[in-house]
Amino acid sequence: MKDFQFHRPTTVAEAVALMAGKDGAKFLSGGQSLLPVLKLDLAEPTDLISLTGIAELREIRVDGQALVIGALVTHDAVARSADVRKHIPGLAALAGGIGDPQVRNRGTLGGSVAHADPSADYPAAILALGATVHTNLRKIDAEEFFTGLFESALAPGELVTAVSFPIPKRAAYAKFAHRASKYALVGVMVALTSSGVRVAVTGAGAKVFRVSAMEDALTKGFVPEALSGITVSADDLNGDAEASAEFRAHLIGVMAKRAVAACQ
Ligand SMILES: Cc1cc2nc3c(=O)[nH]c(=O)nc-3n(C[C@H](O)[C@H](O)[C@H](O)COP(=O)(O)OP(=O)(O)OC[C@H]3O[C@@H](n4cnc5c(N)ncnc54)[C@H](O)[C@@H]3O)c2cc1C
Repeated sequence: MKDFQFHRPTTVAEAVALMAGKDGAKFLSGGQSLLPVLKLDLAEPTDLISLTGIAELREIRVDGQALVIGALVTHDAVARSADVRKHIPGLAALAGGIGDPQVRNRGTLGGSVAHADPSADYPAAILALGATVHTNLRKIDAEEFFTGLFESALAPGELVTAVSFPIPKRAAYAKFAHRASKYALVGVMVALTSSGVRVAVTGAGAKVFRVSAMEDALTKGFVPEALSGITVSADDLNGDAEASAEFRAHLIGVMAKRAVAACQ
C-alpha cells in the first residue's frame, strides 16, 4: 500500500472542498470495499478523505411519505432502526442480511451505493422502491443511478449524502447468497408502491434491473402463483463458479416468489 494523506473533515462542505482539485483523492466511509482494494494495490489514492466524522450524514428521518437515510448510516443501524423497521421492514431485513456483523458495523449505505457492486443488496431496494440518491450536487433517480459494472452516474468527486426511499404499501427482499461473503448470487426486491408493482434483481447481471413481465403479472394478482410460468432469459446474466447464468435465471423466479410471499 502506497503512502497517502489522510483527512477527517466534520462537514460535507469541508469534505467536498478537500476533494476539489485532487484527481487522486478518494472518499472513505466504512472501508469494507475500499480497503481491500488498497491492500491489493488496485488503487493508489494520493488522499483519503474519511467521512466518518460528519455527523450530518448519520441521520435517519421520515420526511412525508419517504424514509431518508444518511450516507454514513451503517448496514447494522439500518437493520436496527425503529423507523426503518416500522415503515419499510423489508429494507431493514435486507440490511440485516448483508455480509457478517463486522461488515454490517462498518459498511455504510453511501459507500455501498457509490461502489455500485453488481452483487450488492441495496441496489435492488433502490430500484424496486424508486428511491432517489442525494449528492452534494443533485438528486439522482434510481433508474438513472446504476449505469454498469461498478459504474454509477456519480461524477468524479461527487459525494453521496443520503438516499430517500418512498414508503411502499408492501415490500420484501429475498436473496440466494454467496456461501462465504453473503453477496447476492441473486437478490430480488418486490415492492407494491403507490405507482404500481416493481420487481428489481441484483447479483444476476452487470447491474440491477427490473423484470417487467413479473411486474405485469403481479399487477393482475399480487400472489406468488402469479409468477408461475414466467421465465427470465439467461442471455446477458452472470455465470461463474458459484452459479451459471442458467441457474441464476432460475433463481430469479424462485427469489421473486419468496419475496412476494414475504409481502403477504
Ligand atoms: C466480507 C465482506 C462481505 C460483504 N458482503 C456483502 C453483502 O452480502 N451484500 C452487500 O451488499 N455488500 C457486501 N459487502 C460490501 C459492504 O456492504 C461494503 O460496506 C460496501 O460495499 C461499501 O461500503 P463502505 O462504507 O465500506 O464503503 P468504502 O469501502 O469506504 O468505499 C467504497 C467506495 O465508495 C466510495 N465512497 C464511500 N462513501 C462515499 C460517499 N458517501 N459518496 C461517494 N463515494 C463514496 C469510496 O471512495 C470507494 O470508492 C461485503 C464486504 C465484505 C468485506
